[in-house]
Order: sequence, then structure tokens, then C-alpha cells
Amino acid sequence: MQLVMLGTGSPIPDPNRAGAAQAVGVDGRWFLVDAGRGCVMRMAAAALGPAAIERLLLTHLHSDHVTDVNDVVTTRWIQGFPPVPLPVDGPPGTAAFIADTLRMLGTDIGWRIAHHDDLKAGPEVPVAETDGRTGDGLGAVVLDDGVRITAAPTDHRPVHPTLAWRFDADGASVVLGGDSVPCPGLDHLCAGADVYVQTVVRDDLISQVPVPRFVDVLDYHSTVADAARTAARAGVGTLVLNHCVPAPGVDPAGPNGSDEWLALAAEHFDGEVLLPDDGDRIAVRA
Ligand SMILES: [Zn+2]
Ligand SMILES: [Zn+2]
Repeated sequence: MQLVMLGTGSPIPDPNRAGAAQAVGVDGRWFLVDAGRGCVMRMAAAALGPAAIERLLLTHLHSDHVTDVNDVVTTRWIQGFPPVPLPVDGPPGTAAFIADTLRMLGTDIGWRIAHHDDLKAGPEVPVAETDGRTGDGLGAVVLDDGVRITAAPTDHRPVHPTLAWRFDADGASVVLGGDSVPCPGLDHLCAGADVYVQTVVRDDLISQVPVPRFVDVLDYHSTVADAARTAARAGVGTLVLNHCVPAPGVDPAGPNGSDEWLALAAEHFDGEVLLPDDGDRIAVRA
């Protein structure tokens, strides 16, 4: 199994970091998790077209995670010969979001159907919503056919509901934690995982910025220490710091460079810690 970090950025525009999106590949099958700013550009750079995706999974409906869903839907549709449906799994609210997206695209869809004789209908985007629970328990399996995909609820309040996703295949596992503070759902999914990807923020830096709207970011994200403690508690192999706020400096050894971020995580977690760039591929092995 492999993980492709398509977009490692945050909502703050960054020429080097696209919005949140990751692709998980298993034996030639590809799953897309979130579709933030620039997602389809980064997929092209990874030689991965939207038509090749088996499923789109969303962690939550914050704009930085879904702003390019419309591009994935349209590009998959017009590059499909014939077009095939794009199954989408996400938290409650996803069906309304997809319906609204298709409504937004309605004029374009009409033009393309009118122009191309072989396009008879608009994009098909079947949606399945889950809250990440099964009965009273944590964890809801949405696919189990060689690849097992499990959702669990996260805590990104007041944004609610939100999910993390775990993939199990070939005896290995990866968790895409999304935006969340530490919570039972993350602990449940991360237990024994080989790779754990978490949105992280630097509370030591953000708390010094005299802009309340920026400081608010701390309310609902894991700090580097939080993510490292979750990783240690769950016994994961590799912690991947992602969607970093503020974006790490370009000089790894400079102020706010990746060396600082990795060292902060290492204070609480003995395993491997990575801070990837867009396009980086991470092998997921047991
Ligand atoms: Zn968010
Ligand atoms: Zn986000």
C-alpha cells in the first residue's frame, strides 16, 4: 500500500502546498481522501487522473478539504469513456454538499451534454454518509473487499460531524486523521496503525500572533505534541505531520523549519516522524 501526499497545505494559500488531499494506492486501486485546492493539478503531477479513482472519501466539509471536489467530478466525467459514477463517502451533510455542487455545475453540464453526442447524462455521484459509528461502538466499515476502509468520528468542533479514515490492506494500515483534537475516535482508528497522518498546528507560534481569528485555529486542531501523544498511545509506526499551520519555513534548519517540527514530535513519540511535501510518496508497510 502507498500513500501519495497530493496536498499538504492549509487554508492559507501557499505556492508550494496545495490544499488537503491524499491518495491511497493498493495494487493499482486508488482512493482519494479529501479534494482541497489544486487537487486535480497535483493528481496530474502524480500521473493519477480523476477517472482512475475508485472512491472519494471526505473527512469533513470545511472548504479547504472540498473546494476542488467540483473539479474532480467534472474532470472524471468528461475524461470517462464512458463516464463512470464517482462513489463518495463522507459525514452527514455530504449528500447535500454533492447535490449543491452538481447544481452549481448545472449550466456547464448542460452545455457539455448539448455539445457532445456521446454524453447523454450528467455526472453520477452516489453518496453514502456515515457518522463513523456502528451501534454504540466506534468505527464503521464502508468497504471490505481486499481493502478495508473504516471511518471513525473525530472532534473538530464546532465543525461537526467529522471523520478520520483508516485503510487496511496487505497486512498494513494507514490512518488519515484529518482535522481534529485528540479524541477516542482517533485512538480507536490509530491502534496499531503503521502510518498515521495528522493535521497539526504550532501552538507556541500561533499563540503569539495578535489576530484572534488566527488564534482560533488552536481550538480545534491537534498541536504537534497532541499528535505525537496520540501516535505514542496507539503504538503507530510512523507519524506524518500534515496540513501544518503555520506552514514550515523553507530552510529545514531555520526558524520554524521542519527540524523544529520533527523535534517537537520526538519529545513525545519514539517512532519515525515525517513532514512531507506535495507529491511525496510514503510506503505503508507492516
Ligand atoms: Zn477543518
Ligand atoms: Zn483543514
